[in-house]
Amino acid sequence: MNFGLRSFAVVAVVVIAAALFVSPWIGFAFFLGAACFFAVIRARNDEAVRELLRDPAAAAMPFSQAISTLRTKLKDGEQSLRDRDEEIAQRRQITNAIPDGLFLLDREQRIVWCNQSALVMHSFDAFRDVGKPIGQLIRAPEFLSYLNDSTLPEPIITLDSRMILFHIEPARDGMRLLLARDVTDRERLDRMRRDFVANVSHELRTPLTVMTGYIETIRDLPLSDEDRTRYVSLIGAQTTNMTRLVADLLTLARLENAQLPSENADFDLVSVVRDALADAAALSSGSHRFNEHIEPPITMRGSASELRAAVANLLSNAVRYTPAGGEISTRASLIEHTIIVEVRDTGVGIASEHIARLTERFYRVDRSRSRDTGGTGLGLAIVKHVVQRHRGTLEIESEFGRGSVFRMRFPTS
Ligand code: ADP
Repeated sequence: MNFGLRSFAVVAVVVIAAALFVSPWIGFAFFLGAACFFAVIRARNDEAVRELLRDPAAAAMPFSQAISTLRTKLKDGEQSLRDRDEEIAQRRQITNAIPDGLFLLDREQRIVWCNQSALVMHSFDAFRDVGKPIGQLIRAPEFLSYLNDSTLPEPIITLDSRMILFHIEPARDGMRLLLARDVTDRERLDRMRRDFVANVSHELRTPLTVMTGYIETIRDLPLSDEDRTRYVSLIGAQTTNMTRLVADLLTLARLENAQLPSENADFDLVSVVRDALADAAALSSGSHRFNEHIEPPITMRGSASELRAAVANLLSNAVRYTPAGGEISTRASLIEHTIIVEVRDTGVGIASEHIARLTERFYRVDRSRSRDTGGTGLGLAIVKHVVQRHRGTLEIESEFGRGSVFRMRFPTS
């Protein structure tokens, strides 16, 4: 029984009881009072419903229709609230997935809102820091200047050893959107590129300057035939160095850009190592003793020419950094599921502080020895790339004055 029927039943019982047990007039008076009360309540409800509907047409509607229209409107309202909640959750998910930090700042530069990346990037605490002026949390002077004048160049600030670029965009109601982008990798690559260009220019300029000097001497001075021939052969040596440098640069560029070597191409590693050994023996021209510990057959998967370049670089280093009379041992073996290629020498060795940097391009321990022996400073960078492209590792063991060991390990599966 609903409220209306229940009230009607109560009024009816009270009216009948009053009419029977007190007086019919009292019952009638009570009936009139109850009727007026219900009429007022109904009129109020009616008014409230029409007001809620906010529709002038509702005034002409019967009460039951107004109620059902109101019910439909309430349901629609609830649905649109649910849709709005879902949209907000979706937008929050999107802003949290953005790797850039986003802050919404009010006119007083207080943080109104920020996404997850902004919290992580700056080690902020959402509960503690939202609401605070951003200038209290990031205090770098260039950042504060940019915050006050966004026409200034966008600052790059180092925070927790990461480099962060800031950019400000105006938002609605005088608020501003502050974007924080982690540019550490980009800056590092940029610096590497600049260093590389500077290094290459330097490496090319040195032989060119030497050659220019020789050419001027030949052109300007009256030289004997013997001197002239000597200068021409010195020019020849410089062009050989430059050609070697360009060849190594091209090899490196190919290794960096080319697709990984095919996993399906098998080659005979033993003949690759033996070819490289023949070149090393020619370079040594009898000044060193060569030992071989090669256990055929060793079939390897990948690129024969790349492996040949890596082994040749290790062997040519061993020859160039081992004084005459020294020993160079080469080992190639397949142990369990690992192919090991090792070049060991009894040469000048390398002090421990240099070892970690040897595979950097143009890193040299002894610059003049490298140049005098025709080094380009790129040999070990090439070796490192070849090893990485074959999922291998490069180990370097050395001690100053006590020789070196360079060992490449490649998994066979
Ligand atoms: P480079 O053309 O100068 O030899 P690499 O990249 O091949 O360039 O080697 C980098 C540096 O590592 C060399 O300049 C040299 O100082 C050191 N190095 C490489 N191999 C040896 C070795 N077997 N013994 C001693 N030093 C070596």
